[in-house]
Amino acid sequence: KSGFVAIIGRPNVGKSTLMNHIVGQKIAIMSDKAQTTRNKIQGVYTTDTAQIVFIDTPGIHKPKHKLGDFMVKSALSTLREVEVIYFMVNAMQKLGPGDEFIIDKLQSVVGETPIYLVINKIDQVHPDYLMGFIDEYRQLLDFTEVVPISALEGNNVQNLLSITEKQL
Ligand code: GDP
Ligand code: MG
Repeated sequence: KSGFVAIIGRPNVGKSTLMNHIVGQKIAIMSDKAQTTRNKIQGVYTTDTAQIVFIDTPGIHKPKHKLGDFMVKSALSTLREVEVIYFMVNAMQKLGPGDEFIIDKLQSVVGETPIYLVINKIDQVHPDYLMGFIDEYRQLLDFTEVVPISALEGNNVQNLLSITEKQL
């Protein structure tokens, strides 16, 4: 099995960290500063049964300048070419206009492509808190899967990969 996965989400949710964890190399630039990742960086995850190419997209956000506009267009065109989309959010951050902007764009661009809600940084929150968090997002989009993870510690990342592999 093989396919492409795009990871999208607001800046600093942990997209690069997840990619680095999966691919096992520090290939995407990690930083606390927003928008460090300028180009889509591809990493390949290979097992006996699957080969999955991950694309760490630059943040989709309301463009404030020309470069931002280019980045949004580039990210959206990437989404049309993949088999699965991870929409990543930070468990510690409330749903905001940034998320709504992305979800709105997603719906206009993507047709049948499965979209996973990947909730990152669960090492920072209490499990009870997650239910309400998920409900809010589910009202905006009918996600194919909802997967809580910690990209930093690797919690549940293997499960995310298995679910993804089954989808291909
Ligand atoms: P990106 O902008 O979405 O690519 O986010 P990064 O991968 O650069 O991560 C932004 C910050 O969040 C970095 O300081 C990471 O170490 C931190 N981070 C990423 N994943 C996790 C996680 O699962 N738990 C915690 N506590 N911090 C994380
Ligand atoms: Mg990044």
